[in-house]
Amino acid sequence: MADNKDNKKTLTTGFGMPVDNDLNSLTAGPKGPVLIQDVHLTEKLAHFDRERIPERVVHAKGAGAYGYFEVTHDVTKYTRAKFLSQVGKKTEVFARFSTVGGERGSADSERDPRGFAVKFYTEEGNYDMVGNNTPVFFIRDPLKFPDFIHTQKRHPATNLKDADMFWDFLSLTPESIHQVTILFSDRGTPRTYRNMNGYSSHTFMWYNEKGEHVWVQLHFKTEQGIQNFTGEEADRMRSSDPDCSTRDLYEAISKGEFPSWRLEVQIMTPEQAQSYRFDPFDITKVWPHADFPPIDVGRLVLNRNPENYFAEVEQAAFSPGNFVPGIGPSPDKMLQGRLFSYHDTHRHRLGPNYHLLPVNAPKASQVHSYQRDGAMRFDGNGGGEPNYWPNSFGGPAPDAGVAVPSLDVSGMAARHAYELVDADFVQAGDLYRNVMTDEDREHLVRNIASHLKGAQKRLQLRQTALFYRANADYGERVGKSLGLDMKEIKRLAAMSQEERVKATANQ
Ligand code: NDP
Repeated sequence: MADNKDNKKTLTTGFGMPVDNDLNSLTAGPKGPVLIQDVHLTEKLAHFDRERIPERVVHAKGAGAYGYFEVTHDVTKYTRAKFLSQVGKKTEVFARFSTVGGERGSADSERDPRGFAVKFYTEEGNYDMVGNNTPVFFIRDPLKFPDFIHTQKRHPATNLKDADMFWDFLSLTPESIHQVTILFSDRGTPRTYRNMNGYSSHTFMWYNEKGEHVWVQLHFKTEQGIQNFTGEEADRMRSSDPDCSTRDLYEAISKGEFPSWRLEVQIMTPEQAQSYRFDPFDITKVWPHADFPPIDVGRLVLNRNPENYFAEVEQAAFSPGNFVPGIGPSPDKMLQGRLFSYHDTHRHRLGPNYHLLPVNAPKASQVHSYQRDGAMRFDGNGGGEPNYWPNSFGGPAPDAGVAVPSLDVSGMAARHAYELVDADFVQAGDLYRNVMTDEDREHLVRNIASHLKGAQKRLQLRQTALFYRANADYGERVGKSLGLDMKEIKRLAAMSQEERVKATANQ
């Protein structure tokens, strides 16, 4: 029997009782059946049987690290958030990066947006910035989100990734063209998590001590420089090192090469928002830099690896609904949907008291709430303090001084669609024409063609017509790579979306 002379601690059960033997089950005779009284065995098996928690439905594969955020520029005229109140002020953070569509064991180099989530442990509670490495998104109404994600996952019959599902939905959803163009550029396969930017994508409200508000978009700019895999390199990485980004982040931090990002913010006044040429809350659009020049705010540095992946990364739970005074939501419809969905999915995945887990609990502020009980309540549960409000026994009281400024909102309650659909093609066209280099365009077309060729002909035609609408050269090059009839593409591009769908139905 093994003894513990090399090991300083005595093995115990989960309840602290010393264990006499962890190699041989208790049996009736040397070959006999196992005895039910071997509680150590049954408890060990039972716990093992329950080791897996539900996988995140999106952003399942990820890596995370701790660090700090330091204010480098004064933004107090825009926000009263205390963690942004003084140049030089540092706040502890935990960041998690991820792919979106793949399962927990999927390859890090898959073409996919990357999640970029940062939890700021501020003295006014935890503020979560739950963004992506892209400044826009595929859709702008949360009602489409479950359908969109289904198309990025596996086919219900074959359990395979399916190019028809993927391009069918996108070609029926023209507002996706901007994000599709970024996704199929080499920015869709970042070389590491350190070599990509992070964007809030949504518009948020910042408000100051006087209750004046502005609208903001956040940009975390990598100080390591943008570096991407080409499509071919990303494919190779899937087999040679499927965990390349996870490995890179952990190893860089272990070696003392701490990744950092500069935080910039774009600011739009409420007056500008009212008269801007497109809806500034539409997440499929960026705010052009020329109109809203980014200003510096601070610097994010990651300098400490988690000690336990499951406890700190798998159980980390972010929500765009975690605000602090000075930061609030905007009317962006996608954001409004996410304000509900994130807390909800964590309650399913981790339980109703997930906010008590060390990685999720505030570190620089105290919690005084009237929430009580629920599964796995593992703190003191408020002891004997009052558990209702209002009360006359000294329980915590709301502070009206931290209210988000009032917004004047009116309109007919209806399922409103966006009307300016033509505007959906403008920024994808700008990106292709004005921002991308010749090499970027060549890679973009190659990356699209190698994926779109797996879809049915009618979907190829319909989607290529959308690329053509964004930019004629863009559509022509994709069409040529797929061997499509360019006359047909031009004809389809000139149609309304409804006519186009009808015209391609039987191709
Ligand atoms: P600018 O020329 O001022 O900005 C273009 C920005 O595009 C750059 O600052 C860079 O942002 C980003 N960029 C550079 N290369 C690529 C690439 N290959 N793929 C994706 N993005 C790239 O012009 P505008 O502000 O008028 O924007 C023009 C287009 O640039 C937009 O339609 C949008 O597609 C794209 N873009 C704009 C951003 C914005 O917030 N205005 C942010 C990112 C992209 P970064 O330094 O953030 O990487």
